[in-house]
This record gives sequence, C-alpha cells and structure tokens, in this order.
Amino acid sequence: MAPSSSKPALEVADLSVSYGKAVALRGFSMTVAPGEVVAILGPNGAGKTTLLRAIGGALRASSGSIVSFGVELTRMTPWRIATHGVAVVPQGRRCFGSLSVEENLRIGGFHLDRASLRARLDEIEALFPVLRTKRAQDSATLSGGQQQMLAIGRALMSRPRLLLLDEPSLGLSPLLVQEMAETLRQLAGRFDVTIILAEQNTRLALRIASRAYVLQAGRCVREGPSASLASDLHATYLGA
Ligand code: ATP
Repeated sequence: MAPSSSKPALEVADLSVSYGKAVALRGFSMTVAPGEVVAILGPNGAGKTTLLRAIGGALRASSGSIVSFGVELTRMTPWRIATHGVAVVPQGRRCFGSLSVEENLRIGGFHLDRASLRARLDEIEALFPVLRTKRAQDSATLSGGQQQMLAIGRALMSRPRLLLLDEPSLGLSPLLVQEMAETLRQLAGRFDVTIILAEQNTRLALRIASRAYVLQAGRCVREGPSASLASDLHATYLGA
C-alpha cells in the first residue's frame, strides 16, 4: 500500500530487542502522529538507544513490529529504512572528521539532484548559520555543539519524514543545550518532520516534546503529555 501522511508517522507494537540473551527492550509500544515531537526518557541503560537503533534497522527485533507511514520496517535493512524517510542522529554525532562541513552535508543529500541538493544545503545553512561560515573547514575542527548541528543537518539533508535523535544534548555546555532546545523546537514545523528524541536530560526533553515515554530497565513505566509528566517525573522515576 502507498505510504500516506494520514497514517501514523510511527507505530511500534510490542517490540522486544535483545543482545544475545540479555533483553534490552521488553514489549514496548508507541504511536506517534505526523509532526509530533515525542521524547523517550530514562536513565542510563534504560533502552533508549536500543529502541532508536531498532527503528533505524541497526538492531533486529526479537518480536513485535515497527511501521512508519503505513510501511512495515521491522525486517528491513537500515538502507531501505532510510529510503522510507527515517534518519538517525546517533549518540556521539559521528561526523566524518577529515571531510569538510559541506562534504558532510552533501553525503546526507547524496540522492538529491543538483538543484534540490543546493536548495536543501541553503535551508540547513539558514537553520545553522555557523555551518555556512565554516563550510570549507574539516568537521573535526568544529566544537562539540557545532558537530551536533552538523550531525542534525546531515540527517535533515536526506529529507526525512521521521528523525530520530539520540541524546543530542550529551556533552554540550548549558548555553549550547539551550540553543539546541530552541533549534529542535523549530525543526518539526520548519522541516515538516516528526521527531523522536531520546534524552537523559528530562527537563530539556519535556520542554521540547509534547509527549514522552519513560523507560526503565527496558520497560515503559510511564507515558503521557509532557506537561503532566514534568511535575513528578524527576522525583518518582529518575531520582533527581
Ligand atoms: P544510555 O543513555 O547510556 O545510552 P540507553 O537508555 O540508551 O542508555 P541502551 O544503550 O539502549 O540504554 O542499553 C539498554 C541495555 O542494553 C543496557 O542494559 C545495556 O547494558 C545493554 N546493551 C546496550 N548495548 C549493548 C551491546 N552492544 N551488547 C550487550 N548489551 C548491550
């Protein structure tokens, strides 16, 4: 069936993922509407990265299903999942350090024709002006925050409909975290993309996302609108 934007951007049903005999995610389900920004919260080792890697196809589900815009992704290769409009910004940014900023961005848009590539580059550089300023520099010379912008920009170059961000605030200074939050708040509307944001920084994520799911030891222990989760989450689940 042809994908349709009237369908959920993401439907994860009863998903379990294991590393050998160790179960990292147990029976997780979520539904995300197009254009939503949804956070996945939880402490270290809760299963957030595992969930994102399973959606992106880097990990195989042991049971359950993953559907995006009506297309079942569960057993697809990461490459095919990417062609269905899913882009992942992994933890730790992973830019190609010896390539320039612009070359990194061009890799993200390799499938676009020349005119679309140029237009998309302009859009990304308008979102992150520092990437325009540093266009010709090796990406290894960028600061941590700039590399995070580059990693997000590279993912956006592929024109994703579903963008998965794994701990974008990790390692950033408090000031940069605020800037990142502001940018992420603009992203969904500006780029017509649905966002799943995995974060240990609960307060930050609940300011960006409209809803959240809380994982603990691979299980979903709480879900709901950010406003109602914000007041009690720290005390109840995250011990902060
Ligand atoms: P973090 O915030 O530290 O990234 P997380 O919530 O993303 O934590 P995961 O990285 O998904 O958590 O880890 C979930 C569980 O799976 C943890 O118990 C972790 O030790 C285990 N795990 C993660 N990666 C592997 C791996 N490659 N091999 C074996 N076990 C793993």
